[in-house]
Amino acid sequence: MIYVGIDDTDSLEGGCTTYLSSKVIDELSDLSLIGEPRLVRLNPNVPWKTRGNGAIALTFKNNTSITDQEILDRILQIVKSESHPSSQPGVIVSRKKLPMNLYWKGVRTILSKDKIIKYIKETTFKGLRGGRGLIGAACAIAWDFTKSDTTYELLAYRKKNKWGTIRNISKSQVNIVSKFDGVFSCMDGDGKISMVPHSPCPVLWGLRGTKSDSLLKGLVHLGPEKAEKSLLFLTNQGSDDHLQEKSLSKLEDGICIKVRGKVHSTPYSIKGGHRFFDLIDDNNLTVTCAAYEPSGDFRTKVDKLIQGDDIIVCGSLSHETLNLEKFKVVRFENRYVKPPNPLCNKCHTRMHSTGKNSDYKCRICSTKLPKPAYKSVLPDLDTCWYEPPSSARRHLSKPAALMD
Ligand SMILES: [Zn+2]
Repeated sequence: MIYVGIDDTDSLEGGCTTYLSSKVIDELSDLSLIGEPRLVRLNPNVPWKTRGNGAIALTFKNNTSITDQEILDRILQIVKSESHPSSQPGVIVSRKKLPMNLYWKGVRTILSKDKIIKYIKETTFKGLRGGRGLIGAACAIAWDFTKSDTTYELLAYRKKNKWGTIRNISKSQVNIVSKFDGVFSCMDGDGKISMVPHSPCPVLWGLRGTKSDSLLKGLVHLGPEKAEKSLLFLTNQGSDDHLQEKSLSKLEDGICIKVRGKVHSTPYSIKGGHRFFDLIDDNNLTVTCAAYEPSGDFRTKVDKLIQGDDIIVCGSLSHETLNLEKFKVVRFENRYVKPPNPLCNKCHTRMHSTGKNSDYKCRICSTKLPKPAYKSVLPDLDTCWYEPPSSARRHLSKPAALMD
């Protein structure tokens, strides 16, 4: 087999490594592509990521009539003409698969170029303008999709004369497609379309799901703007592969964790609408959890947590704060509400408290009654996973709909 890895050809201003990979597949049509191209998302916390920190891997049938250097040169021609000038592309051609542990490092830690050189020294590779993309290219080849959760994304691309213009995709068609078997993350709960990007990149839309047949039907339904071409990727999106189950004693910035603990402070809100609460684990270690404004309605779910709720949280650490990706309540703490002040049974007026933990007294006839007991109420949350709307979600985050 011949493995090809490509990464870091785009930038925040546009360009798209997936589109470039479609050109590479066309260029290498004399080789036989095996299976789907892979779109491999890596640690969403790397400081230099573009939109989704996604790298591409392609596998071709072994072919001894072509050298790795020739393949690399043909790919580099495309990368040089198509990549964004501020990107740092990396391309690797290898006859050997790279080890899965390299993928785990790429998706869970922050790798530097120095750390991956030992993995790729026997491959044929080239980095341009700094070549940071070699990291993602190597990790993409290393991803063994037979040992990991996988989903698909069908990416549709626009005609070049449309790039940078408004995409014309009707909401009603997105709504139809979103109901196809296994499809996820097309729309937010409030009906906002999340499968259509807003950047000036060549992507018209990306349809994600667990069943490739459902996605391919999207090509017929979505419009009125139609795709010039499309490419189905096998991906690690929605796998939660970036999450590590770690003790709160082993936290470091840049990692994403899944941890169980108890809500240790009443959630509170600060200017801008961000929500915070503290979580405490069995060892009495705490971490502050945050749900920021872009997570929308998710914050109103956070508001319903109370001190003592036993929960599982997933999120990424930044400045010692856990930025929540989702949470689930395992066991609810008892919830109580204060009943209304009792009525005086002679005067039928509301009685008043005479102080903390003391009786209630009628201001007219001075009748006293003991303080009424707090009333137990049911939680206003379920035991399911709660997550931000899909437009605010990480590509790697497993959608609540796919969680066990
Ligand atoms: Zn009274």
